[in-house]
Amino acid sequence: MKTCQVSIVVPCFNEGEVIDAFHRALISVLEPMRRTFEICYVDDGSSDRTRARIGSFATADRRVRYTSFSRNFGKEAAMLAGLRMSRGDAVVLMDADLQHPPELLPRMLELRQRGYDQVVARRDRTGEGVLRAFLSAAYYRAMGRCMEVEVVDGEGDFRLLSRHAVNAVLSLPETNRFSKGIFSWIGFDTASFTYRNIQRAAGNSKWGGRRLFNYGIDGLISFNSRPLRLAIHAGLALALAALGYALWIITGVVRHGVAVPGYTTLLTAVVALGGIQLATLGVIGEYVGRIYSESKRRPHYVVRETSESPKPVPVDIPAGARPGPSAPGSGKPPVRRTGSTALGASRFRTIRQFIAFGMIGIVNTAVYLTVYAMLNAWIPYLVAHIIGYVVSFVGSFLLNSYITCRTKPTWQAFVRFPLSSVVNLVLTGILLYLGVSRLGMGKNIAAVAAGILAIPFSFLIARWAIDSGAALARQNAGRAETPAGPTPP
Ligand code: UDP
Ligand code: MG
Repeated sequence: MKTCQVSIVVPCFNEGEVIDAFHRALISVLEPMRRTFEICYVDDGSSDRTRARIGSFATADRRVRYTSFSRNFGKEAAMLAGLRMSRGDAVVLMDADLQHPPELLPRMLELRQRGYDQVVARRDRTGEGVLRAFLSAAYYRAMGRCMEVEVVDGEGDFRLLSRHAVNAVLSLPETNRFSKGIFSWIGFDTASFTYRNIQRAAGNSKWGGRRLFNYGIDGLISFNSRPLRLAIHAGLALALAALGYALWIITGVVRHGVAVPGYTTLLTAVVALGGIQLATLGVIGEYVGRIYSESKRRPHYVVRETSESPKPVPVDIPAGARPGPSAPGSGKPPVRRTGSTALGASRFRTIRQFIAFGMIGIVNTAVYLTVYAMLNAWIPYLVAHIIGYVVSFVGSFLLNSYITCRTKPTWQAFVRFPLSSVVNLVLTGILLYLGVSRLGMGKNIAAVAAGILAIPFSFLIARWAIDSGAALARQNAGRAETPAGPTPP
């Protein structure tokens, strides 16, 4: 098979107005270059004709491939999908709105041939609003001081990456992706050149003020733990200032006696400190939020269709997170959960059940003690003990049916359930004997140890009693309800 020399990755979101012009311009630059190429379009859940257009490009030209998302997942996710799709030795990321001029491609490839793994086309700020240019410049200057990686003003996603660099980018698994930081983080020899900024050919920018602001915060947080350090520094500085202020007041009191004024100072200090604390909490919250979203390990995007398989196919879903049997009416054959997935799920279920069993045990001990303590004032204590035991036993059975095994309690299960107590009694007796007589343990410690060691066995017998009783009840009910003769359709 002929290898592909250049892949062009193009994220598109509602670019219906410009996508035809972009495609024509791109092809007219790529074809004369006499290199094998492919164009990888990623439709980021567009609601206009973008998906239909890139689908038709792919049908008409085998060099065009596409992936379409089930909804808008953002440019970062679209770029990631494009990089994963790409097969070229060099990959160029480009916007679909013609703000990244295709005419620059030959120059980028020439620099790649000179050995650079990253070639960045950097735009100047021609034609940009004064305020936006100022804010961007200020942001990049601040970033330069804070971030652990270098992010340069004007250097965006319009860049060429060698296969080596693409593999490095794809090896970073984070959910909150900030490409500008990632490109800088992976390193490699980088060349850059500046081009004159141009306005988008048609349609509107998808980056409104709020989205840009959030992107800025993403950048700050993704490659940087300095805000946390800053919070510590600010806290220490304030504590020091407060100490100085306290000393000043104390000196004043010693010299002139107690003075009531100071209300304004006090209020100002309280408000200022409250504000700083809230801001610090916000910073910590941002990091905690990121840990939370990373720990969920959700896929970066969900695919609706691709040029390789135009039917809806779920991709980018980690093996462990794939759904089991398909939903009714989905038209797909049910998928059996096998291997590690099923094993993981059943292990998780057992752990959950065991924890529930333990908690119910604690609750029931409390119930027994409460009933016993309440009744033994009125009736003989042994009778109170029996009533307390029966109440906690029935409670244990009901709670374990509903909560631990998540099934309806049945009589069949109820008659089996005491087996768990019998096993517990015998096992704790044996363990107690071994602990005291053979291991020389103290009688009380041995009883506690025996009680704890017996819990898993009691749990297994109790679960078996409830599950098998419920299954037997279902079987009996099925036999009683199924009429003789042919099975109804
Ligand atoms: N884009 C995307 N998903 C989004 C937003 C944008 O795939 O959620 C694409 C968009 O179609 C374009 C590129 O990212 O190809 C840059 O977007 P835009 O031109 O709106 O950004 P700007 O040039 O204003 O920074
Ligand atoms: Mg643009």
